[in-house]
Amino acid sequence: MLLNLSERVYQSKLSSTVGIADEVARLREKGHQVVDFSAGRAAEDTPSYIVEAAIQAMNTGHTHQTMAKGTTAFRKACSIKLERENNIIADPETEIIATMGVKQGLTIAMLSLLNPGDEVIVENPCFVSYHQLISYFGGKSVPVPLRPENDFRWDPEELESNITPRTKAMLFNSPHNPTGIVHSRQDLEVIADIAQRHNLYVITDEVYERMTWDGHQHTNLATLPGMRERTITIMGLTKSFAMGGWRIGFVYASPAIIRMMEKLQQHLITSCNAFVQAGAAVAFAEPPKPAVKEYWQNWQEKCRFATQTLNDVPGLTTRMPQGAFYAWTDIRASKLSSEQFSRRLLQEHQVAVIPGAAFGSVGEGFIRITCVKSWDEMKEGIYRIKAFVEKL
Ligand code: GLU
Repeated sequence: MLLNLSERVYQSKLSSTVGIADEVARLREKGHQVVDFSAGRAAEDTPSYIVEAAIQAMNTGHTHQTMAKGTTAFRKACSIKLERENNIIADPETEIIATMGVKQGLTIAMLSLLNPGDEVIVENPCFVSYHQLISYFGGKSVPVPLRPENDFRWDPEELESNITPRTKAMLFNSPHNPTGIVHSRQDLEVIADIAQRHNLYVITDEVYERMTWDGHQHTNLATLPGMRERTITIMGLTKSFAMGGWRIGFVYASPAIIRMMEKLQQHLITSCNAFVQAGAAVAFAEPPKPAVKEYWQNWQEKCRFATQTLNDVPGLTTRMPQGAFYAWTDIRASKLSSEQFSRRLLQEHQVAVIPGAAFGSVGEGFIRITCVKSWDEMKEGIYRIKAFVEKL
């Protein structure tokens, strides 16, 4: 008999987002006409000027490993972007590192911070992979509710009451997947105050930073007084530039943390792909081109279409997201659990969504709908949801 495999991995859950998207791919291969509102993957292809830059890089010998922390060109482009869009002056040599997407940024953030038993406060609901990424590296995630009655925001007293002598960091996501809230400056001031009084690090997942709607503004925690040294800012191009398959992002953090991450990248991945970094550098070096802005405009319109249409369905309540591109739909009136609702919707109407419970206990009673599919798919899927609920 062989020895047991890793208990930590064995005990961890499959990713609902990637798992359901994979299930959709299998069903489609068998000929089922499934509408895929599961993972947050946009229908659009990467804008051609970015693709061209990567092709040119491949044709001119950028087919080798790069520095573990990323090419100088990519890191410089990240610092130009940070200054232009975030008012952050970052040294590309010491404060920026390239990552293979945001999940890989989170991976090296956890590895850099955590000792066995360290606790990380996360939002409940939160992105499905946070708990796993924390536990794989010996940490413990401590979910603190974002209650619907509190507009999906942390209650400052409840947040603070979850801090223990083992708390190392807080991790939050804004604009927020799945609820669609954008943390206000006031929300960030609460986090900054607690972090400083309890000497904690804060990891901010800002992958949706470019997607804020109806005048809502994204603020970077790292720009608040006293937060530069203790904030690990994780950003990506995967969502905003429709570059999901490229797996590219970066971390902005203090030189001490970046040095740790550089060591990790040397051992974990050697480097991000050279030609991917070349394309990404072009995307960041200049202000987003009209083609990209059009995507964002389109995504906002699709979010509005989905939320408005769903709000006309008795028994469903959906708020226009302030940011990111998910409709977070309240299905409590259906009396079905989010898992039952999602299962039946897939089986009976071939529409894949993510059950809210996958994001944490507070997500029960909600489903998450990705609103960045083609217009045809958006309309078909939303009408099928309507038909499903009307017959319940
Ligand atoms: N972050 C996206 C989502 O929440 C993509 C899926 C994933 O990487 O897990 O659907």
